[in-house]
Amino acid sequence: MILLNPGPANTTETVKQAQVVPDICPREREFGELMAGVSRRLAAVVGDPDVYTAVLFGGSGTAAVEAALASTVPADGRLLVVDNGAYGARMQQIAAAYGMRHEVVRSEWGDLPDLDAIATALAGGGFTQLCVVHHETTTGMLNPVAAIGALCQQHGVTMIVDAMSSYAGLPCDMQALGADYLISSSNKCVQGMAGLGFVIGRMDAIEALPDIAGRSLYLDLKAQHRFFVKQGQMRFTPPVQVCYALAQALSELEAEGKEARYHRYLSCWEALDGGVRELGFTRLLDDETQLSKILTAYVEPDNPAYSYDALHDALHAKGFTIYPGKGAKEATFRLANMGAITPQDMRRFVTAMGQTIDELRLRPLYAEK
Ligand SMILES: *Cc1c(COP(=O)(O)O)cnc(C)c1O
Repeated sequence: MILLNPGPANTTETVKQAQVVPDICPREREFGELMAGVSRRLAAVVGDPDVYTAVLFGGSGTAAVEAALASTVPADGRLLVVDNGAYGARMQQIAAAYGMRHEVVRSEWGDLPDLDAIATALAGGGFTQLCVVHHETTTGMLNPVAAIGALCQQHGVTMIVDAMSSYAGLPCDMQALGADYLISSSNKCVQGMAGLGFVIGRMDAIEALPDIAGRSLYLDLKAQHRFFVKQGQMRFTPPVQVCYALAQALSELEAEGKEARYHRYLSCWEALDGGVRELGFTRLLDDETQLSKILTAYVEPDNPAYSYDALHDALHAKGFTIYPGKGAKEATFRLANMGAITPQDMRRFVTAMGQTIDELRLRPLYAEK
């Protein structure tokens, strides 16, 4: 099955096999060494691993987003949430769930964040943290995080970046983005198995975080970091086999090279997007400079014979998983090109898509405009 959903992404056979290990207690030194290596190598993808560390949590990516927000926004702090998609909105939901003082700068899902509104809000003072999504997976938009980071630096505001679906797939450098904290998970562009989320930040900054006792026991970045440094163990039981798979996925990322992975994803996107648009589909975002090129949202056909489920099921039967839209300003379906896939897989997909739209009698896809 070729997965065009935005994670969990396709993994290699060697990553799958890496999960098959003898039973081990994760409190043994050997496992601690594995995790120390994983943490350092995750940090090295986006910064100097002598300065930055990756703090891991058992859980999906959202657990790590929740840990980052719950741990960094102090009780008397105030968070500015940039929302131009479902994942920005999720950060607002987290802030609300913890009763954090926060405000939202919202744009339509499919529009760029409003930099003027962000600048005005930050200039007004009183914000201590800002959170933003790097690649907004709702729409496939690459947000101008470096520009927002520069505004944050100007106003002494900590920037927290959800880089879930860009980390290891797009150039992502903590310093270049101006990110204080960057969040991702094991099952997207790093090409491991689902079950781990992580927050990358400066070790000294994590050490200096406020105590959040009373807010969250589990999702405590500082406590998680300190316990691991002191004990050489995860604070709570990690998904052991997923950790071995992640170590293998990192070896494969290092062997492929970050740049080469980025270029492979780009080649996949060119084959996918070029082919799909040749079939007649139009993108939600027409400005190519806004595209992540890791996921693309296409406008759903308005042909009365179209239904997402029929399209999904026909493609699924041919060995491809596509993904529905998620509240963007126009109805869309989404195709991701992350994971252990090749341009050839994408060309096979385009052929299958062409057959499917004929089978379902979807031509013309859109009414004449
Ligand atoms: C996938 C994703 C998440 C996390 O989703 P989980 O289902 O919790 O792993 C968060 N933010 C973005 C931008 C994502 O793409």
